[in-house]
Amino acid sequence: MNMERNQAGDWRSCLRRVTPYVPGEQPKEQNIIKLNTNENPYPPSPAVVQSLKQMDPVRLRLYPDPSCGTLTKALADYHGVGTDQVFVGVGSDDVLAMAFITFFNSDRPVFFPDVTYSFYPVWAELFQIPCECKALDESFRIRSEDYYKANGGVIFPNPNAPTGLVEPLSFIEDILEHNRDVIVVVDEAYIDFGGQSALPLLARYENLLVTRTYSKSRSMAGVRIGYAIGSPELIRAMQDVKYSFNSYTMNQAALELGAAALADEAYFKMTTDRIVATRNAAVRRLTEQGFHCLDSAANFVFATHPQYDGEKLFAYLRQHGIYVRHFNGPRISQYLRITVGLDEEMERLYETLERAYGSL
Ligand SMILES: *Cc1c(COP(=O)(O)O)cnc(C)c1O
Repeated sequence: MNMERNQAGDWRSCLRRVTPYVPGEQPKEQNIIKLNTNENPYPPSPAVVQSLKQMDPVRLRLYPDPSCGTLTKALADYHGVGTDQVFVGVGSDDVLAMAFITFFNSDRPVFFPDVTYSFYPVWAELFQIPCECKALDESFRIRSEDYYKANGGVIFPNPNAPTGLVEPLSFIEDILEHNRDVIVVVDEAYIDFGGQSALPLLARYENLLVTRTYSKSRSMAGVRIGYAIGSPELIRAMQDVKYSFNSYTMNQAALELGAAALADEAYFKMTTDRIVATRNAAVRRLTEQGFHCLDSAANFVFATHPQYDGEKLFAYLRQHGIYVRHFNGPRISQYLRITVGLDEEMERLYETLERAYGSL
């Protein structure tokens, strides 16, 4: 019989150690211009504000509906799909984490781009899923041929982040054609700002999952709502995993506010149109200042200045109360990712940059 005892402190060997995702800063100071996490500069729809005012606090005594019935039904009607084709979660981060654990269970590696949403490699590590990053080409485009080889699943955002570049439906379909035996996830966090959605392809590809979020185009990052649309079989598998984790993911307020937002299409259209107009103006203005801007289809611009160091520009702006995002990764360390804000916020950005050129 082995009578050896563990040493005091051995519990440390039991810890799961991971390198976490690093979210953009949420600074506490007032009066800063926040262009660093792709939030929407406009308030949520008046329909959401109204729904919040009418909310019955007594209802909070009870658990929320675990099937998220009202919100699921509202989303199904909005997109013209069945309620059995919609999965809702606590932001699309929650939905994507569920997708990783539900769909990526092969010994083969999951494929995603090297420059993309930096949460993908974090989930792969957390869930111990083998993965392989496929390098974007010199102009930061995804090369579809890289995704033809046998793999354990494919995921990419369209438009991609942080590049903002969008691919046409024919590109998505080509990737689906070459990956009929695995799940292909298209993360459409930014699709409301440009490009064609992959949703019409659901009719022909049962292995396609499309994810969306309320955080960007619906001005509701603070409510935490995301969702996926796919074939009933994929959605059922995700539900089973969710119920094995936490049945009550969505709080009562989120369920009600999420449904209310969908009823106000006019406001949604107006605010997204404004952001697109401000984005197009931003590309023009930044280009006039000497920046090279990628052709963005999202609510941010990914830009580099050939004369000024990316990190120094980032630090200068931050010192002057303007927060943008800078990633220290290979290939992108000279770029800034600038969220599209209000027109007046963007004016402040252009002025501050002009002053930076004089002092850097
Ligand atoms: C912002 C973002 C998400 C996650 O957003 P949630 O706030 O969790 O809904 C997912 N994918 C990409 C590419 C994003 O940029």
